[in-house]
Amino acid sequence: MVSLGCPKALVDSEQIITRLRAEGYAISPSYQDADLVVVNTCGFIDAAVAESLDAIGEALTENGKVIVTGCLGAREGVVLEAHPRVLAVTGPHALQEVMQAVHRHLPQPHDPYTSLIPDHGIRLTPKHYAYLKISEGCNHHCTFCIIPSLRGTLVSRPVHEVMQEAESLAKAGVKELLVIAQDTAAYGMDMKYRSGFWQGKPLRTHITELTAALGELGVWVRLHYMYPYPHVDRLIPFMAEGKILPYLDVPLQHASPKILKAMKRPAGGENALAHIRQWRATCPDLTIRSTFIVGFPGETEQDFEKLLSFLEEAQLDRVGCFAYSAVDGAAANALSGHVPEELKLERQARLMELQESISAAKLRAKIGRSLTVMVDEVDEDGIIARSMADAPEIDGMVFVDGESQSVSPGDMFEVRVTDADSHDLWGSRVA
Ligand code: SF4
Repeated sequence: MVSLGCPKALVDSEQIITRLRAEGYAISPSYQDADLVVVNTCGFIDAAVAESLDAIGEALTENGKVIVTGCLGAREGVVLEAHPRVLAVTGPHALQEVMQAVHRHLPQPHDPYTSLIPDHGIRLTPKHYAYLKISEGCNHHCTFCIIPSLRGTLVSRPVHEVMQEAESLAKAGVKELLVIAQDTAAYGMDMKYRSGFWQGKPLRTHITELTAALGELGVWVRLHYMYPYPHVDRLIPFMAEGKILPYLDVPLQHASPKILKAMKRPAGGENALAHIRQWRATCPDLTIRSTFIVGFPGETEQDFEKLLSFLEEAQLDRVGCFAYSAVDGAAANALSGHVPEELKLERQARLMELQESISAAKLRAKIGRSLTVMVDEVDEDGIIARSMADAPEIDGMVFVDGESQSVSPGDMFEVRVTDADSHDLWGSRVA
């Protein structure tokens, strides 16, 4: 299995290898030992398309029998034009079709013992954290994005199924659940938020009720890809009460109303700053992460400055910034006022410079405080951990001094912060 792309694609890969193992297939660590290769592709931006096509080419050269799935698979013509020798092409989130293709080209072995796989499936993440995908697809039409045409409209997973998976992950030793979807806060909208059942009680297919139930499992629960819909306000008290992590990943993408309108962003008309103020008043320790796109078609210096002033006011903790890049098939390509490449990069650098000073000041303010951390890795140089404010892979680390022999990934303890830069923290274990 070659898995490319975002955590949502990673979960699709996990589901495919889980089913493969359940049916008695073995997963090989190398091309040479494999009878067939499944490549789960990404098709989000042109660079990801190129990376996916390269990965398919490599699998064909090294192995020869290749099934392609994932976001780029939704554009079958592009895959087949570059690699006509692939055995089959499916779109994203297409477990059944991938399995049918595998059965066709590598008939199922019979070994009843290999079907003894764990309830929570097989995961590609470390043992102590897991992504929990609660829905697939998206009902929005952001003009820079082609995900709805690749992954379809919103389809929420039944609430009991999500809770069952979360519970079996927690029982298997997972200490942190990262809740993901294309639009997490829209969970249940397609089902009109109907009630399901969990542990004999009704539970609505709604993000607030799901989050409250997840908060009872005794593990860290982190919310990603939340748009600032008014009902998100109702989640903040759970954070203030310590039921879920005081962390919100809100991809805002811009702050100029004109650009947000041109982007057709969900909740783009909401006053993000007012929400942020209110969230912080309810939960002062809240960490807010966001991403922004600069150089969107029509973005003037004035729009960009609006974005900079927003960042100064909002004092977000973590920020990612992309220079706008046209995606084949995206509606934004037809907009006028495309920003020259050089100017986009200049704006990206200006934004990151400003944000770096904000992030650095926010992290410096943690020096002297004691924080609960979760260990990610232990090596000869020491312990690498994360605090509640840090999501794996995308945020910073906490480097911990001291004896590491009896420490393992997933362990949690208190650390006194001794130093900080604009991204990471350093500290010592509190005895
Ligand atoms: S919300 Fe917008 S950016 Fe996110 S998947 Fe949907 S259309 Fe794409």
